[in-house]
Amino acid sequence: MNSDPLIFDLINMISIPSINNFGTNDINLNPENEMSNYFERQLIKLGLEVESCEVANGRRNVWGRLKGTGGGPTIMLAGHMDTVGVDGYDNPFVPKIENGKIFGRGSCDMKAGLSAYLDVVRKIKEEDISLSGDLIIAGVIDEEHRMIGSIDFGTNGPSIDYAIIAEPTNLDLCPVHKGQVLLSIEILGKAAHSSMPENGINAINHMSILLQKLQEYSISLSKRNADKLLGNPSFNVGLIVGGDNACSVPDSCKIDIDRRIVSGENHEKFLDELNEICLAIQQDIKNFKYSISPPFLNIKPLNTPLNSPLMHALQKASDEILGSHVIKAFPGSTDAPNFNCEAVICGPGSLEQCHSLNEYIDIEEIKNAVSIYISAIINLQCN
Ligand SMILES: [Zn+2]
Repeated sequence: MNSDPLIFDLINMISIPSINNFGTNDINLNPENEMSNYFERQLIKLGLEVESCEVANGRRNVWGRLKGTGGGPTIMLAGHMDTVGVDGYDNPFVPKIENGKIFGRGSCDMKAGLSAYLDVVRKIKEEDISLSGDLIIAGVIDEEHRMIGSIDFGTNGPSIDYAIIAEPTNLDLCPVHKGQVLLSIEILGKAAHSSMPENGINAINHMSILLQKLQEYSISLSKRNADKLLGNPSFNVGLIVGGDNACSVPDSCKIDIDRRIVSGENHEKFLDELNEICLAIQQDIKNFKYSISPPFLNIKPLNTPLNSPLMHALQKASDEILGSHVIKAFPGSTDAPNFNCEAVICGPGSLEQCHSLNEYIDIEEIKNAVSIYISAIINLQCN
């Protein structure tokens, strides 16, 4: 056993293969469950008031509350308990410590953050720090797929004033990120034998026309006025499926799209834009038929004001612990906006490590994260 409880927790958590089940309904394929159980046990051991909520098929969010003396804001440290897959990864769940780093799947994204949260509570208790508001430590499920854990927590969980999310930022402060909308467009054609294509409507041919228009749309997005921190909205077609075989006129062709949205945009606006493009094609091609699915992921942009008390507290903490602070946009989308409160992403580790086949975390950086969180909590609860 490693004598530092922070390292001990992290090693234990990396050893739990909590790969996201990516949408399967099979309750036996729920490896996050062991992480929920472990995290819950640690929260109980630390003496917090612990609650949990089954979000889907035995998949539980768990959180613990350290009661404040009253009057201060409720601050949450939240993170996801799932990881991405491990195809091609040698010994992903056998943590290895080398040169001040800990290696293994989930080390950086984001079990380092979860172990840092537990250490924050441990140190607050050991040092007898009195907090005016409550501190909540939360582990949520499913960030790597549809974020159903944080969506449920934001809707049905306890009310929170400020949240810190320890996704890897190298401890930079990220108060904003783009939102993300995923959806499908299906082109509907008419099947026929390929020897008589005139009897059918070729859905793949129609899709090729749409794809050209979508490419023009994508270029137009890159020319829109950029947000200072966030940059431009963007668009990607990432999957195409259509047809059965070379000898049939395909009656269907479907694409999956990822649209990154910035402040002032939302999924309704995006749907309007897509309909406009498709309706314009229909003006020229009368039998062009399409159907747009409802979004299967719809994450709002994170838009915490730079003058938020949370940002002030984190800047001061970072200056104190690291000697400086960096403010930037987080490149991906996260659970943060789902918590429906002012939230900042700030965590140990680098995004380059996330999802890689050589994931690791620097131990010193986790310890700095713990110090920054404690200092920011004290800063906020003294205001
Ligand atoms: Zn993550």
